Amino acid sequence: MKQKRFILQESEIPKQWYNIQAEMPNKPMPMLAPNGQPVTVDDLCHVFSRGASEQELNTTDAWIDIPEEVRQFYAYYRCTPLVRAYGLEEALGTPAHIYFKNESVNPLGSHKINSALPQMYFFKKEGITNVTTETGAGQWGAALSYAAKLFGIEAAVYQVKISYEQKPYRRSIMQTFGALVTPSPSMSTRAGKDILTKDPNHQGSLGTAISEAVELAVTTPNCRYSLGSVLNHVSLHQTVIGLEAEKQMEMAGEYPDVVIACFGGGSNFSGIAYPFMRHNFSGERHTRFIAAEPANCPKLTRGEFHYDFGDESGMTPLIPMFTLGHNFRPANIHAGGLRYHGAGTIVSQLLKDKQLEAVDIDQIESFDAGTLFARAEGIIPAPESNHAIAATIREALKCKETGEKKTILFNLSGHGLIDMSAYDQYLAGNLVDAAIDDDVIARNLKEIHEQIKF
Ligand SMILES: *Cc1c(COP(=O)(O)O)cnc(C)c1O
Repeated sequence: MKQKRFILQESEIPKQWYNIQAEMPNKPMPMLAPNGQPVTVDDLCHVFSRGASEQELNTTDAWIDIPEEVRQFYAYYRCTPLVRAYGLEEALGTPAHIYFKNESVNPLGSHKINSALPQMYFFKKEGITNVTTETGAGQWGAALSYAAKLFGIEAAVYQVKISYEQKPYRRSIMQTFGALVTPSPSMSTRAGKDILTKDPNHQGSLGTAISEAVELAVTTPNCRYSLGSVLNHVSLHQTVIGLEAEKQMEMAGEYPDVVIACFGGGSNFSGIAYPFMRHNFSGERHTRFIAAEPANCPKLTRGEFHYDFGDESGMTPLIPMFTLGHNFRPANIHAGGLRYHGAGTIVSQLLKDKQLEAVDIDQIESFDAGTLFARAEGIIPAPESNHAIAATIREALKCKETGEKKTILFNLSGHGLIDMSAYDQYLAGNLVDAAIDDDVIARNLKEIHEQIKF
C-alpha cells in the first residue's frame, strides 16, 4: 500500500525555532519610531512582551530555544501530519508529487495557535494579566483566546466588523473560551470613534482592529497587545511547521522543488518556507517559494516596497514592507485572514531579493481549487488555504503539460468547517471576483508617499 501520511513522534517536536534574520542575504531594514529612529526592545516592550520584543529584533541567533512549557502545549496537537495528496494528483492527472502539511488538525483549526502559545507564555512569565488583539475571520482570535485561558490571562479581541457579522461562530468560539469580543471599528476607542466619524458604515479591516487593540493595550495598566501575523517573532514561532515538514519529507524520500503557502501577513508562509529556504542560501538547494495572495488584496504582486504603518490609524511603528497603503480597503472576500494591506519586513526583503515569488488568485479560482481538493482528499480547507491550493494546482498542471515530475509541498493553514456559508455561496454560484483598478492602488500609494517621508 502506498504511504499517505508521514507522522513524527511527540519527542520530535522541534526544540528550537529557526530565525531566518540571522542568515538571510540582506537583513531586513529596521522598523522606525515616529522620530525616525530604529525601534528598540524597550520601545516595543510598551506594547508587546519583552520576550517577543527581543525575538523581534534578534538578527544574530539562527536558532532560538522553544521554552519547555511551550513545547508541552505544542504536544497537545503537534507534530502535525505531512500528507501525500494522491487523491489530488489523480484528480489533476499530474505527474507531480503533491504533499501538504496539515496545520488544520488542532482543535482551533489553524496554524495560529503555534504563535499564540509562546506569546501568552511570555506574558505570564512577565506578570502581564491582560491581552488585547485583533482578528479578521476569527482564527487568530480563537487561538489567542484559548492560549490566554491556558495561561490565566484575560483576553479582549477586536474582530473586523464584517467578519463579526459574517462568521458568528468564530465569535462564539472566542466567547466560549472566555474572551471579550468587540466588532471593529467600535465606539470603545478614540481610533474607532475617529474612523466611524469619517465613515459611519466602515465595515472594518485588520487595520482598524489593530488600531483599536493597540490603543486599548497602551492605555490599560498591565495590559499588552499581541499580533497574529506580520511581525518577525510570529514568523519565528511558525517555523515549527517547516522544521517538522523537512524531517517528514526526508521520511518520504523527497525534497520539495516548490514550496507554496497562502499569504495574509506572511506567518504561515514563513513557517513552511524559511526552514527550507536556508538550504537555498547555502547554495545546496534551489527550491522555488511561492506566496499566494488574493487578487483583491495584492500587496506582493501589485503593491510597493515602502515604509508604512501596520494599522489604519498610524499607531504602529513604521514598517518597511510591500504595501498597498494602510488606507487600502480590501473588498469583503471570504478569506478574511488575507485581507491585510501589507507584508512582514522579512518576507518583504526576501521578495525584493528575489528569494520568493508571489502570485495572485481570484476568489472563484480559489474556491474551485478548494472544492476540488475537498472532493479528492476529504478535507474542507479554509478559504485562505484555498489560495495555496489554487497555486499548487497551477504548478501541478504545468507539470502535466511538460511531463516534469516535480515535488510540490504546500501548507494547509486551516480547515473551513466554520466557513461553510462561504462554500454555500460558492456552490450557489453567488461568489464574485471584484478586480481592483490600478488607479485605486496608485491613489493609495500616493497618499503614503505624501504622508511618509522615509
Ligand atoms: C490567518 C490565516 C492565514 C493568513 O495569515 P498568515 O499570517 O499570512 O499566515 C491563512 N490561513 C489561515 C487558516 C489563517 O487563519
